Amino acid sequence: MKSISPKLLLILIAVVLAALIVAGIFVYLPQEFFNWRAAIFIFLLSIIPSSVVIVCIHFSVLKKMERLLDTVKNYRANGDNPSQLTTNSANNIDNLKLEIVAWADDRKNEIERLKKLEVYRKEFLGNVSHELKTPIFNIQGYVLTLLDGGLEDPSINRNYLERAEKSVDRMITIIDDLEAISQLETGELQIEPERFDILALAKDVAEAQEMKATAKGIILTLPEDNKPVYIFADRFRVRQVLVNLIVNSVKYGKEYGETKIRFYDIGENIMVEIADNGIGIAKEHLPRLFERFYRVDKSRSREQGGTGLGLAIVKHIIEAHNQTINVMSTESAGTVFSFTLKKST
Ligand code: ADP
Repeated sequence: MKSISPKLLLILIAVVLAALIVAGIFVYLPQEFFNWRAAIFIFLLSIIPSSVVIVCIHFSVLKKMERLLDTVKNYRANGDNPSQLTTNSANNIDNLKLEIVAWADDRKNEIERLKKLEVYRKEFLGNVSHELKTPIFNIQGYVLTLLDGGLEDPSINRNYLERAEKSVDRMITIIDDLEAISQLETGELQIEPERFDILALAKDVAEAQEMKATAKGIILTLPEDNKPVYIFADRFRVRQVLVNLIVNSVKYGKEYGETKIRFYDIGENIMVEIADNGIGIAKEHLPRLFERFYRVDKSRSREQGGTGLGLAIVKHIIEAHNQTINVMSTESAGTVFSFTLKKST
């Protein structure tokens, strides 16, 4: 329904008020004094003061409304979604309504965001303490056994110290990944792009992982033509992406399998593909795979030294470059991760 204009409303109220004054006077006057001419005269006379009263009330209400509108606008100006309305006093009631509805929507969204953040914070803390608990308890167990006489027992002392050291390494890995993810999630990460050859970088990473791959009989293959593939990206972060994906392809690769690292020129970007013929991932896990702490097989991941943060870190880094990452996988057949980065000539 179209709302009545403030001016028309004022006139109507003044007329109704004047009519009420006339009615009031004649209710108290004896019947014989009533005549139409007198009634019209009193009506016309009373319409002036009632109009003045109504106009005064209107302007004082209008002023308050304007102040209220400004206050709401100021609040919204400091938020994510500042007001788009221009002040137009003829439509102040409608403007105020629009502003208050928009403001309420902003608040609702903000509350939703804070609730999600709170859930995330609790989940994150729970996951972190869970991840750290195992290595800490392991270290405690080895240290206590050594203190309880194990130190003098040559059949276990060195072995227990080495195991304790492994657990310390595990804690360092978890803390490094946590540091990386918190930097990425708080937006502290500054991408520092430069031109470099990603083929050379991938070779470097593959060489560093060769020992682990060979231990499982896995071959890491790169394009044979050796032609440099220049991209414009943050070299240090891209190394982290390659390390995480290549390490995963070995961790979850089958014995005597293969990991292929390929590069495709797709116009403005280079698509990097890391494909293995390992255990693969069931379809239902794929949508959540890049979530922090998400693992398909928890015990297998921990056994392999995984923190469950690797793919979340990878996704953040690729998205910080305004690029995308995808995964395709078939259980027992293998997995292909592909991501794009800006090409450089
Ligand atoms: P994690 O530290 O557990 O390896 P990631 O975030 O790197 O954590 O990976 C999340 C999960 O995705 C892993 O636990 C594993 O189940 C699955 N995954 C990752 N890469 C592969 C792969 N190449 N093949 C099979 N499963 C994989």
